[in-house]
Parts: sequence; structure tokens; C-alpha cells
Amino acid sequence: MKSKLLRESFRSYAGDEKYRRFIRALNTASQNAVQLRYWQDVLWTGFASTVPDCPCDYSTIQQLFAVCELHDCDLLTDTVLAPYSQLRHSRTQSPDTGLQAGTIDNDKYPYPGWPVSPDDWPPHENKFVDVLYCPKCRELRAQRERENET
Ligand SMILES: [Zn+2]
Repeated sequence: MKSKLLRESFRSYAGDEKYRRFIRALNTASQNAVQLRYWQDVLWTGFASTVPDCPCDYSTIQQLFAVCELHDCDLLTDTVLAPYSQLRHSRTQSPDTGLQAGTIDNDKYPYPGWPVSPDDWPPHENKFVDVLYCPKCRELRAQRERENET
């Protein structure tokens, strides 16, 4: 079954809210994660029993749901500037997250993959990291950046 069709089928099975929570949990899982959380596993196992040849290994499921749960876009990869000391918990963690407390509106654009400005950090405190981002989230983040400049 094609990825998009399988996702739509899972969305019908789980309902919108659980579908979004399921994807958010996958996208924000630790880079070291090797299996679904318990509640995800229960949900997925129930769904998988209704679909022939449904994938059940973690990395396949993770790839299948590498989408933005808000915008339904495929997540893309990019290499962006991050503070050298930033510990990256998940593949979708944006370098700007946590740097401007209270100003990052993660609920509207959870996966901007937004780089830090080289001007904000001494050169030796920057590094390039690979991130997964949603193009629509990035667009919204850019819009906010423009609004802040005016
Ligand atoms: Zn998005």
C-alpha cells in the first residue's frame, strides 16, 4: 500500500487527534529511539491487524510518518547552522528552539528547522547540523521573522 494511502487509512482508524499525537510523538522521539511508545504500539498493532502486509518495524513506521501532522507536508532534510553546544534530542529539533524563550510558537509551526544567525554566535560556537523540517512550518517561521523586523 502506498504511504499516503496507508497514512489516510490510519487517520480514519485512529481519528484526527490520535493520528496527530502519534506523528508528533514519532517526530519528536529521541534520535536513539528504537521502538514505538507503549500507547503508540497498542494503536499501531490494532490498526496493523486490519491491513494486510502492514509494516511493523520502527524505522519503516518512522519513515512512513515523516510528515508534518499540521500541514500534511513531507518532511525535508536541510543542513543548518546551530549553536555548537546544542544537544539535539530529535531529528526535527530546530536550532532556534529554546534560544528565544517565549517567542517560538511551536504549536503553529512545530518543524521549522530554523537556523540560528551566525551574527548571534562567535564563529567557533557554530556548527552545521542536519535537520528534518516542514516547508510550510518554515514559511510560517519566516513570516514571523519578517513581522518582528518591521
Ligand atoms: Zn508543518
